Amino acid sequence: MLKAYHGSCHCKRVQFDVNLDVSRGIHKCNCTYCVKTKYQKVFTKADQLTLKTGEDSLTNYHASPSGWPEGHIHHYFCKNCGVQVYSKGYLEMPEHDIFNGWFYAVNLATIDNVTPEEIISAPVIYEDGINDNQLNPPKETRHL
Ligand SMILES: [Zn+2]
Repeated sequence: MLKAYHGSCHCKRVQFDVNLDVSRGIHKCNCTYCVKTKYQKVFTKADQLTLKTGEDSLTNYHASPSGWPEGHIHHYFCKNCGVQVYSKGYLEMPEHDIFNGWFYAVNLATIDNVTPEEIISAPVIYEDGINDNQLNPPKETRHL
């Protein structure tokens, strides 16, 4: 079930409200970007996130995984403190409720009011992103 959360970067210039269902899973991926940033993400539809402050502090970086359309994943981070708050992506997967249209991969670390209990009880979903196989786990996950 979706629950309302508040997220922010470290310097608090960027603040947002987002509805997430953390119990659906916390995603960890072995692609080059997620490994470099130790990115732990929770997905939600684009209409579930509202940027409250800091639009002028946000910038974004995109490096599409091979096989993905150019620029379809943008990683947004604060120009002042460097913390990545979320990525925004677009996919067309009619069979999937989140990955059909624009979606956010929210950086779990930026959610201010998610509880340790919610994180502990959420399943961890591993993605084999390095092999363009995001919907399946890689053989090895212990390092992620
Ligand atoms: Zn900041």
